[in-house]
This record gives sequence, C-alpha cells and structure tokens, in this order.
Amino acid sequence: MQPAVPIDVDDTSGIWRTDGLPMVYLPRHFLVNNHLAVEAALGREAYRAILRASTAKSAIEWCEAQVRVKGLDPEATFRHYFQRLSQRGWGQFSIDVLDVAKRRGSISLKNSIFALEAGQQREQRVCYMFEGFVTGAFSFLLGLADSTQVECEETYCACDGRQGHCRFDFAA
Ligand SMILES: [Zn+2]
Repeated sequence: MQPAVPIDVDDTSGIWRTDGLPMVYLPRHFLVNNHLAVEAALGREAYRAILRASTAKSAIEWCEAQVRVKGLDPEATFRHYFQRLSQRGWGQFSIDVLDVAKRRGSISLKNSIFALEAGQQREQRVCYMFEGFVTGAFSFLLGLADSTQVECEETYCACDGRQGHCRFDFAA
C-alpha cells in the first residue's frame, strides 16, 4: 500500500511538502528517543505541560492552513486533522464521540507510536503527547481564543495491556 497523503518533493531544495506544508520524514525510534530523553530530563508532568501547549499551537496552525488551502469548515477540518495524523503513521485515530453542542468528545487510537515503542508497561499511559493535539484541534473547532480552555486526558493506553487501544476524552 502506498501512502494516502500526497507528498511533493522540491527537486531544487529537497523540501518535502504535503498540502503545501513543509514536512519531515523520520524514523519512529528517532522521534520517540528524543521524546523519552526530554521526559527523563524534565520529569513527565513538567514535560507534559510544555508539550500540551506546543502541540496545541501546532494543531491550530495546521487547521488554519487547511482552511486556507481547502476551505473546509471547522468540524471537517477537525476530522481531517485526525485522518491526516493516521495517514502519516502516528497511529490510527477514530473519533468515537464529537458533541459540539455539549463541547465534549472521545477519540480512540490504535497502534500509537508511543505504545508500540514502549511495549507493555503496567499502569502506564505513554501517549500524553497527543493530549495537546486534541486540545488544539478541539479549541480550533470551537473557535476558542485560548486552547487551555480544553481539557483532555488519555483515559487509558494500549501500553497498559488491558485494552487493545488508547482513548482520549476531552471537553471544554
Ligand atoms: Zn496510549
């Protein structure tokens, strides 16, 4: 199977692009090793808070770029975001609940890169980087000025071994 995302490589600069955005293609272990090194240096809770803000910012910028390029509405952009993450190898996201009126939802994730790299670890939830992804995308959907109004938690993780997948619950 070939990638479902369009990949354009500039033959002069060598820059990869998808949907007009410059991209980097890298080994999964490279990303996860960097992630774990920073977690070890800062402590998980401090790093988690930093990641939540930075990944939420990136999610919002991504969604805004899609609106400019594709003219999608906010909910379609939100759904497209998780489709693209899935197509780019982060894991297989599915939006199980999205209640815009009640400002809440639930997303499940199979084959998360962090769970696959971690193997089985009891009582561990290792995919907290995605909490910021969800926070940013949902704050974009709702048109919030501040993504910290969205709360998101990885409720359980495939790495724990009790479920076959991870789950993220979110609300604003
Ligand atoms: Zn997980």
